Amino acid sequence: MPDEINKVVILGSGPAGLTAALYTARANLSPLLIEGNEPGGQLTITTEVENYPGFEHGVQGPEMMDVFRRQVTRFGTRFLTGEVTEARLKKRPFEVVADGKVVKAASVIISTGASAKLLGIESEKRLMGYGVSACATCDGAFFKEKEALVIGGGDTAMEEATFLTRFCTKVTIVHRRDALRASKIMQDRAHKNPKIAFIWDSAIEEIIGDPKQGVSGVKLKNLKTSKITDMKTDAVFVAIGHRPNTAIFKGQLDMDEIGYLKVKSGSTYTSIEGVFAAGDVADSIYRQAVTAAGTGCMAAIDAERWLEANHAG
Ligand code: NAP
Repeated sequence: MPDEINKVVILGSGPAGLTAALYTARANLSPLLIEGNEPGGQLTITTEVENYPGFEHGVQGPEMMDVFRRQVTRFGTRFLTGEVTEARLKKRPFEVVADGKVVKAASVIISTGASAKLLGIESEKRLMGYGVSACATCDGAFFKEKEALVIGGGDTAMEEATFLTRFCTKVTIVHRRDALRASKIMQDRAHKNPKIAFIWDSAIEEIIGDPKQGVSGVKLKNLKTSKITDMKTDAVFVAIGHRPNTAIFKGQLDMDEIGYLKVKSGSTYTSIEGVFAAGDVADSIYRQAVTAAGTGCMAAIDAERWLEANHAG
């Protein structure tokens, strides 16, 4: 394997990577998929997924990724478990280092995803998917006629809070300062919404609840007075931003100021020929499983055609 040049190496095993694997495997390109340190991607930390087309009654996130994986295995995708620690994209064939092994590739599809930034407290981790969420689009509908907190002061927090008012009776934005970072238009929208309230200068100390009953409240700390108060809530949405998983590509591929990979409009072509990007790693806007799968399909077709045109397929 060390000297073998793989036609396609796919980095990441969320919906984008697995869909790219499905299409390239069915095109007889025998893809090698490197799973990364969170096999299955962000969907494995969610519970029920109700908005993926084709699953009439919804599906558990981890189960859905298991189905994706089984489907691509049928067509001969090869898997390598491990995290990619280095990518050498300025040489041909490309080289990717995963788990200490050097993998050579004629083409690379990057679908390493993005990670929601989290608060990092123990109760957040324990209750993730059980009343704690980092995605209102995914989980908001579970909190009809309930109350929710949204943590953060940027555009994401305003957008998530506004979206949640479709379901919730009350949404309270908890921000660590007394001024929002969000754009004026998004702030105005939140301020004008009668269902949205604000708590300033405050941070979550602890989320109260258990995986069976869900979330029942939080301990809030006022960062100016250090006073801790108890507050009831049914859900906590953490909306403090996302981080694309692109650190290993810095200095090699064009990216925006946050680190999302830039692709040529309407395609998955990155700034290096033969390297394609799909899913959240190149998408700060939609960030849905179905859009990730869609661009995974595009990357597979782009790679297949590029290989053929370059006599490498
Ligand atoms: P962001 O602008 O970086 O805002 C993150 C917010 O979370 C900030 O208010 C920050 O507080 C707070 N925060 C960060 N770490 C925290 C922590 N550990 N504990 C508590 N609070 C924390 O991120 P974003 O809102 O995701 O936006 C990212 C980019 O996407 C922006 O350019 C935004 O304009 C864009 N975006 C646009 C739209 C839209 O136009 N529809 C929607 C979403 C996002 P501080 O303010 O104190 O730093």
